[in-house]
Amino acid sequence: MSIGHHKNNSTQKNNRQALSLPEGLVIRTILNNSDDTIYFKNLESKFILNSKAHALQQGEQNPADMVGKDDFDYFPYSFAKAAYDDEQRIIQTGKSMIGHAEKWVHPDGTVTWFLASKYPLLDDQGNIIGTWGTSKDITDLKVAQEQLTLLNKQLQEANQRLEFLSMRDGLSGLFNHRHFYESLNMALAQISRQRHARLKNVFTILLLDIDHFKIINDTYGHLVGDIVIRTIGETLKKATRITDTCFRYGGDEFAIILTDTDLVSGQHVADTLRNLLASTPIETESLTFQIRVSFGVACSEEAKSATELVELADKRLYLSKTEGRNQVN
Ligand code: GH3
Ligand code: MG
Repeated sequence: MSIGHHKNNSTQKNNRQALSLPEGLVIRTILNNSDDTIYFKNLESKFILNSKAHALQQGEQNPADMVGKDDFDYFPYSFAKAAYDDEQRIIQTGKSMIGHAEKWVHPDGTVTWFLASKYPLLDDQGNIIGTWGTSKDITDLKVAQEQLTLLNKQLQEANQRLEFLSMRDGLSGLFNHRHFYESLNMALAQISRQRHARLKNVFTILLLDIDHFKIINDTYGHLVGDIVIRTIGETLKKATRITDTCFRYGGDEFAIILTDTDLVSGQHVADTLRNLLASTPIETESLTFQIRVSFGVACSEEAKSATELVELADKRLYLSKTEGRNQVN
């Protein structure tokens, strides 16, 4: 026996009734029970028929009390005028206005947002005899949307800040060790692409290490040592081209990527920087002294990978140290 056989006569009768609701009942149900405001207006935008929700929204007990009135009786002038203009346009053009967001500012400053649709009201012959429309209160949705927009903006700012911090060294203000390798790999990848296109492009890296920095720390204290690191960071940034990038590699070591620079030119730059750093006084509140820095230089043409390039520069830096410091190799 199939399930269909369980249906008794009264269910079948109810189903038949549900397929043919009287028009009056439908209209009454919609007008009395819909949560949306529903209205019908004449050619002068005066109310002819309103839903119960519309009357309650305007503080009227009975929808019939709204008949003959218009939006100017209930809303601020600018809001009512905008609605009136929309309706007159619909009457002129016969075109509906669908899903229009409307902002109602109450006298106490609070705001209600509506999503409104308006249509031409036609008689049986198709003549426009007014307008009709519905509107839904979307204030909660709008507030949530505004909060989401604000949160997204804050998140974007926080992400930008995080990205900035993740690339920076807090003490020197230069880019950090991680970003050094990211930049190096990027520069090498670019060169490899250009080599493919038979273009010649080189860059050179400088590795710098402060001479006898331990003695500075031991003599003047770590805070003075920090001032040394900061001063070197500022000096390097000022003295290099906008296309060059300075990094704090770690501890008392720094790195610079010189774009479009071969080994010989890189060594010249290193020597200029060595002289500049040696003649830049480190100034604290109570003392002034000078530092020396050793350099190791390597060119992209000399290595196949970032590690190989850094190892080469490091070997030459070590040579500068063992040969007496304050020099370039
Ligand atoms: P060398 O000429 O051989 O480079 O001698 P050095 O004394 O500079 O030796 P080394 O480079 O090995 O010493 C680095 C010192 O830098 C050791 C460490 O205490 C100090 N240092 C590392 N980071 C910081 C920092 O952020 N602030 C300060 N004040 N000192 C640091
Ligand atoms: Mg050192």
